[in-house]
Amino acid sequence: MRVLITGGAGFLGSHLCDRLIEQGHEVICLDNFFTGRKANIQHLVGNPRFELVRHDVIEPFKFEVDRIYNLACPASPPHYQYNPIKTMKTSVLGAINCLGLAKRVKARVFQASTSEVYGDPVIHPQVESYWGNVNPIGLRSCYDEGKRCAETLFFDYYRENGVDIRVIRIFNTYGPRMLADDGRVVSNFIVQAIQGRDLTIYGDGSQTRSFCYVDDLIAGFMGFMEQEKIVGPMNLGNPGEFTMLQLAEVILKKVGGKSKISYMPLPSDDPKQRQPDISLAKQTMGWEPKVQLEAGIEKTIEYFKKALSGT
Ligand code: NAD
Ligand code: UDP
Repeated sequence: MRVLITGGAGFLGSHLCDRLIEQGHEVICLDNFFTGRKANIQHLVGNPRFELVRHDVIEPFKFEVDRIYNLACPASPPHYQYNPIKTMKTSVLGAINCLGLAKRVKARVFQASTSEVYGDPVIHPQVESYWGNVNPIGLRSCYDEGKRCAETLFFDYYRENGVDIRVIRIFNTYGPRMLADDGRVVSNFIVQAIQGRDLTIYGDGSQTRSFCYVDDLIAGFMGFMEQEKIVGPMNLGNPGEFTMLQLAEVILKKVGGKSKISYMPLPSDDPKQRQPDISLAKQTMGWEPKVQLEAGIEKTIEYFKKALSGT
C-alpha cells in the first residue's frame, strides 16, 4: 500500500515509517520539522519506497494514497504551548485537510488523538465512553480542545461522507527518538540523570501517568488501522500507573550517579491522574503492551546515553 504519514519525522511518526517500510509498503513522510528531525528518518532516505516532503498540514496537500496516518502536532506541553494558535490550526486544519484528501482518494484515515481529551479525569481508569473534564480556556486547551475538535471532524466526515476513519487515543508514550529538550517527563528525567543534574518534579510528584513503550504503541497503531471491526475511538496505552515520584526513583536507580530530586511549581491544569482502560483494544484486536516500565526505561536510557555523547 501507499501510506501517507503526517508528522512522520517526529518521535512516533519515525517509528511508524520504519515499521511500514519493513512490511514492504511505500511511505510518504510529510513534516514541517517543528519538533521532528531529519535525523529520525535519515536512514530511510534513499530507499525507493520512502519519500520525504517538507510541508505544513495547515495547507492543503494531494497524494494518491491508500492510508493516511495523521500524526502532525507537537505533543509536548512546552512545544504545543509555544504557539498555541498554531497548535489549534495544526489539529483542526490538519484534520480537515487529511479528511478531505481521504474523501477524494477513498483512503482510510487514522487520527492520533490523545488521553488529553479526558482532561483532568474524574473517571478512573479512563474508558472511551467518558466525555472528559477539559478546561476550554487554559494553557493546555489549544492542544486538548484542538484534538477534541479533530475527533469531532473525523466523526462528522464518517457520518456525513462515509470516510473510512480510525481514531486512537494515545496515553503517554516514551522511547528512543524523543528530543532531549522535549520537555516531557520521561526524557527530562533521563537526560537530567545522565547529566548528573537534579530531577525536576513538578508539584509534589503524587500525580500519576501510565507510560507505554513506543514499540507496543506502534504495533497497536498498525493493528487498529487494518482491523475492520470498529472505527474508534480506542484507547492505546500501558495500564501500569505510576506517580512522578515513582518514575523519578526508577530512573535514578537505573542511571545511578548523584542526581537528587528538586521540586518545582505544578503547571496549570496538570491532570492529577491518568490510566487507560484498554479492554476495548484487548477485545477488538487482542492488543496489550508487552514492555514493562523498567525494561522500556532501560532501552530509553541506552538511547539517550548514545545521543547525548554524539555516538
Ligand atoms: P512529536 O512532536 O515528536 O511529533 C510531531 C510531528 O509533527 C513532528 O515531526 C513535527 O515536526 C510535526 N508537525 C507539527 N506540526 C506540524 C504541521 N503543522 N505540519 C506538519 N508537520 C507538523 O510528537 P509525538 O510524540 O511523535 O506525537 C505524534 C502524534 O501523537 C501527535 O499528534 C500527538 O498529539 C500524538 N500523541 C502522542 C503522545 C505521546 O505520548 N507521544 C500522546 C498522545 C498523543
Ligand atoms: N513533569 C515533571 N517534571 C518534568 C516534566 C513533567 O514532574 O520535568 C510532570 C508533569 O507536570 C505531569 C507529568 O510529569 O504531571 C507528565 O508530563 P508530560 O509533559 O510528560 O505529559 P502530560 O502532562 O502531557 O501527560
